[in-house]
Amino acid sequence: MNSKLRSSRRQQDALALPNWGLAEWNKQYENGLKPSAFSLKKAFNAIKREQFPWIYESPKDANQQAFTDLGAAFKNFFNSVKEKRKGRKVGYPKFKRKGDNDGFYVSNDKFSFDGKTVTLPVIGTVKTFETLRFEGKILSGRVSQKANRWYISVQVETGDSEIVKPEPNRRSMLGLDLGVKTAIVTSSGQEFQSPKPLKAVLEKLARANRILHRRKKGSNNRRKAATKVAKLHAKIANVRRDWAHKVTTQVCCENQAVCIEDLNVAGMVRNHRLARSISDVGFGLIRSFLEYKSKKFSTDLIIADRWFPSSKMCSSCGTVRQSLKLSERIYACECCGSSMDRDLNAAKNLEKYPGLPGNYKTPVDTETHTSESNLSEASFVAEAGTNSDHRSTICTPVITN
Ligand SMILES: [Zn+2]
Repeated sequence: MNSKLRSSRRQQDALALPNWGLAEWNKQYENGLKPSAFSLKKAFNAIKREQFPWIYESPKDANQQAFTDLGAAFKNFFNSVKEKRKGRKVGYPKFKRKGDNDGFYVSNDKFSFDGKTVTLPVIGTVKTFETLRFEGKILSGRVSQKANRWYISVQVETGDSEIVKPEPNRRSMLGLDLGVKTAIVTSSGQEFQSPKPLKAVLEKLARANRILHRRKKGSNNRRKAATKVAKLHAKIANVRRDWAHKVTTQVCCENQAVCIEDLNVAGMVRNHRLARSISDVGFGLIRSFLEYKSKKFSTDLIIADRWFPSSKMCSSCGTVRQSLKLSERIYACECCGSSMDRDLNAAKNLEKYPGLPGNYKTPVDTETHTSESNLSEASFVAEAGTNSDHRSTICTPVITN
């Protein structure tokens, strides 16, 4: 299979139709007509054999979807102009250029997974880097390109099939303290160091960005430099996500209940000195992953009250100190004389949290917390999907050579 040819053909498909559609929309409008997704499809069907003969080799859904998307883009634009649409102003739809969200949609009856391969209409069977991780009804798929790699993201309705039978002999409760120095310290004394992928490639990224801004707009070299920057960003995100997946799976798999602090990630990221480190560890990712994996592994996820003094309380005698400086790495209790690592002390307090008097017992209501949890990593939203109704979307890279 000649994958290089394939990917250039797919790119051609992905750009040609939306651009033809937009030009046609403008033309219909100038001629006093009322363009719509439907009128575009009709006009397209009349000329496709002559102007787009290759369309017969590409997935039909991809063609139709281009016009549906354009119709939606115009609807958003008009609603925004009429102030019927909340949020950021939506501009007039633009012509697509190479590199702008290349991709196409495939309906669920037109593709299938078989182990590490996916069969797509017309394109045929391509290898993937991983198998479809979720069982259930496939709702839809979208093939897209990012940093010169092709991906397929699949929306799966999982129902209850997602739930894994818990292992026997699981630890009953584990407290997790999240921090910048050591990403996670558990109440059992285990430490998980984050790979901090951004920190690792910060210099490389700065250099790639400098080169990019020196290149002339619209030049081939600028395109190459942009790909390089995009590749670095994609790598950072992948490393971070991979690590967060491994840690959260292990934690949920091994424990009947897990207690974490209710971190105000959005508030913390506003602190510029800490923002980069916090995003780099991926606190938002960890929280979001825990939320859906706890359901999968039947683990109770307990979020401690934001005011619970997990750091200031002595895990041996329960005395709460008035103050604790960030620089104090060891918690030394003046009351009972015990002393231990600050983060371990906090984790031990979190382990006890559900048994403490007061309000400190409520298991998390995922729905009320999701808005806070995915702020530092907005990109994750697409991956976790709306877990409250048992839908999961995964993104799996496709090998193209
Ligand atoms: Zn004490």
